[in-house]
Amino acid sequence: MKMLEYEAKSVFSTYGIPVPKGALIRAPEEVTAHLPAMGDGVVLKAQVDVGGRGKAGGILMADNGSAIETARELFSREIKGVPVREILVEERLAIEHEYYVSIAIDRSSKQPVVLFADAGGVEIESDVTAIRKVVVSPLLHDIPPFLMREILGGAPKELAPVINSLYHVFQEKDAMLAEINPLVTTSRGVYAADAKLIVDDNALARQGIAVNRDLSEREREAEQHGFSYVELDGTIGVIGNGAGLTMSTLDLIEYYNGQAANFLDVGGGADQERVKHAVRLVASMPKVSVIVVNLLGGITRCDEVAKGIIAAGVAPTVIVRMAGTNEAEGRRLLAEGGYKMLESMDAAVKAAMEVRR
Ligand code: GDP
Ligand code: MN
Repeated sequence: MKMLEYEAKSVFSTYGIPVPKGALIRAPEEVTAHLPAMGDGVVLKAQVDVGGRGKAGGILMADNGSAIETARELFSREIKGVPVREILVEERLAIEHEYYVSIAIDRSSKQPVVLFADAGGVEIESDVTAIRKVVVSPLLHDIPPFLMREILGGAPKELAPVINSLYHVFQEKDAMLAEINPLVTTSRGVYAADAKLIVDDNALARQGIAVNRDLSEREREAEQHGFSYVELDGTIGVIGNGAGLTMSTLDLIEYYNGQAANFLDVGGGADQERVKHAVRLVASMPKVSVIVVNLLGGITRCDEVAKGIIAAGVAPTVIVRMAGTNEAEGRRLLAEGGYKMLESMDAAVKAAMEVRR
């Protein structure tokens, strides 16, 4: 789950990483109360989960006199389609130099990797050759000095404690990514001018995070039912049992030039209730005009599936292909309920292509 900048900064700060003085506001007028603490100028930063936020107009500088007006302007904007509801008001730093530092997992060595560049800021992605990459054993509590020297190259030594603290954040917060871009030097010292922190979704419970904000309402519901569920862009809903069968259904839709709306694996032994929830969940996507249910009856019983589909009673057309346990009874029930059950997944997907909008 991605943390917003102000949340990441508050975490970084508890680890001793210096961050600019700042306050979160939800309305333009709220800026006034914070100005006295900020000094001469402020930076207004839209708290939106969008890459390249600065370039997209999500960061505005203001003098104390124009702060309300500037805040009003920023609240009225959408940054890459995302409305601005919260703004981080920060003291303006007199930046001397911008550096880039991030820590992620290196997939090939399966260890944390520190990325560092002498030129940080909004152009970092255009010059990846300038980034140094140093792998650190996760068994180490601190980044050892010889590796720190490799990370820093000629950059000032005063950055080292910040990078080491960022490593602690990365380890203790179960992070997928901990990033400071830019990490800046000023005459008053080093600051994390921006902050990014992504917590591993599998560690949310351990981190005391109850709700994964990055999931849509439907994805959250799917999680509660224990479905493997991924939302896609198309119009054809898909329900299968087993990841393999569900994936091949997606492949077949693609093969016939259709676009799947989702991946949903109900798992083994799905009963009437589970199937009903799965069908309703997929049908609740506004784009879905037809749903392909492709199931193999093993411990899953076809008559249970049929009952679930009928009980769901959804508006999109449901086309079924199933084979196996209690198949005949399933077929009878579906026919009675006015549903199509086809002999092969090929036929089912083809039929869905006819119906889709
Ligand atoms: P991003 O676009 O979402 O990465 O936003 P950042 O928080 O990294 O800000 C983008 C750029 O704005 C930085 O690289 C800085 O150049 C500039 N910036 C941000 N905060 C300050 C500040 O306090 N003072 C000055 N002078 N520039 C800032
Ligand atoms: Mn940044």
